[in-house]
Amino acid sequence: MITLSSKTTFVVENTDTKQLEKIYLVVKGEDLLIDSVSQNLALIDNDQYKWSGMAVKTEHFIGYLDNNSLYALELDNESLLIPETSLKPFRTLLGIIPDTYFGICSRSIQLVEWNRKNKYCGTCGSETSLHLVEKAMFCKDCNNLIYPRISPCIIVLVTDNERLLLAHNKNFPTKIFSTLAGFIEVGETVEEAIQREIFEEVSIKVKNCQYYGSQSWPFPSQLMLGFHAEYEEGDLKPDGEEIDIAEWFHYQSLPDVPPGRISISGRLIESYVNKLTKKDLPGFT
Ligand SMILES: [Zn+2]
Repeated sequence: MITLSSKTTFVVENTDTKQLEKIYLVVKGEDLLIDSVSQNLALIDNDQYKWSGMAVKTEHFIGYLDNNSLYALELDNESLLIPETSLKPFRTLLGIIPDTYFGICSRSIQLVEWNRKNKYCGTCGSETSLHLVEKAMFCKDCNNLIYPRISPCIIVLVTDNERLLLAHNKNFPTKIFSTLAGFIEVGETVEEAIQREIFEEVSIKVKNCQYYGSQSWPFPSQLMLGFHAEYEEGDLKPDGEEIDIAEWFHYQSLPDVPPGRISISGRLIESYVNKLTKKDLPGFT
């Protein structure tokens, strides 16, 4: 197995023009091949792949990982695994694998899924094939190009001075609370989506939206755009469909929330709490 250092860098690229020495990660649906000893992502070189006995359906160039060309292998359902490896759902690796690995895994899972779901042209029904230059599935009968699709979503921490608005989604398996989130609709701006989603979910209006950061979230194909926003007006009222509980929590008595190492929701919360905590320190201006 190939071990990466903390200085490893990954560069997204669609075409392997450099043809560097190849290394591979192995994908099966939302599962990834894991080294049973290190419990980390199993990256293999050409020789290991060649002698692995694995049955591979498709190969996808992902980008450059240091001085290697990185490919994702789509494993056949009946394939054997390399000794001392196992398949694990990507979700269970969140917070465990380093950030560089997260991007690689997210991109690999999404490209394999995109390829699997677009074997036929949505316009004329003919069989498609991978385009030679573009990262696209191509229909030679009607020249249709089908690019990988991501769905942008907003995820917003609403605050009112020392209070944070957190909500429980009906579909959460536990009593965990999180920030509000939703898909951006076709034709909508990000700012409009923030106002609409928050009003739909909890009936309040917000102001002073500030962009915080983003996260690729491949469950499936989402791009989470994180914002801080301030409460403006209205009484909290959960919609009852998606959100069953929505409450204001003082920053010193928060409920269970997602850890920052796993999700942008957790990072939005942590960054705001850190800001408030620093304010309490003597000499802070
Ligand atoms: Zn077509």
